Amino acid sequence: MNIILLGPPGAGKGTQAQRLVDGRAMRQLSTGDMLRAAVKAGTPVGLKAKAVMERGELVSDEIVSELIDAELATMGPAVGAIFDGYPRTGEQVSALDEILARHGRRLDRVIELEVDEDALVDRITGRFTCANCGEGYHDRYKLPRQPGTCDKCGSTEFKRRPDDNEQTVRTRMAEYRAKTQPILPDYERRGIVARVDGMADMDSVSSAIEQALG
Ligand code: AMP
Repeated sequence: MNIILLGPPGAGKGTQAQRLVDGRAMRQLSTGDMLRAAVKAGTPVGLKAKAVMERGELVSDEIVSELIDAELATMGPAVGAIFDGYPRTGEQVSALDEILARHGRRLDRVIELEVDEDALVDRITGRFTCANCGEGYHDRYKLPRQPGTCDKCGSTEFKRRPDDNEQTVRTRMAEYRAKTQPILPDYERRGIVARVDGMADMDSVSSAIEQALG
């Protein structure tokens, strides 16, 4: 199965993608994670992307589509793909169609996480993750059970994304509205879009997604 998780920044795409991967032959393909890894490693792609990401703008279509293509090339045909944060523009939709066809895959579902934008800034600006295992936390909604220690792996190191500040978040939202939301009608015409209430608690969102996947 190949599915896209669509929704504005902070809608819970990453969290839900991780949950879907658990116990399934699926891989999360997050262009945001791939770009952050490239920035950290100082690769040519990372050097190009760094400033753009810090401003909250979109990295070029070619760069992200090449990352996706390269990742799919490493995956066996039995492993499904969960696209998280890709595609984000009409160009990327066309590129993904072409890439999937080349890899002998087809798109099964687009899950749109519907969220209240005002709540997103609050969600995003409080979030942080375990630097070791990536478990997600939040200053107001989900602190580690034992302060300063990751519930999952026991690490005491945490990190925050540099683009999770209010000003950058506003730009990321504007980019979503201007460039990403307009890709939905195309997928709607294909009859593969399912809408899920992304404001519900995490478990309810997960079950709604499971149901939508059938
Ligand atoms: P994310 O982790 O999905 O919120 O992405 C973080 C940042 O990486 C975005 O604000 C963009 O600058 C960049 N980015 C991630 N995915 C894409 C994409 N599909 N197209 C363009 N830029 C992207």
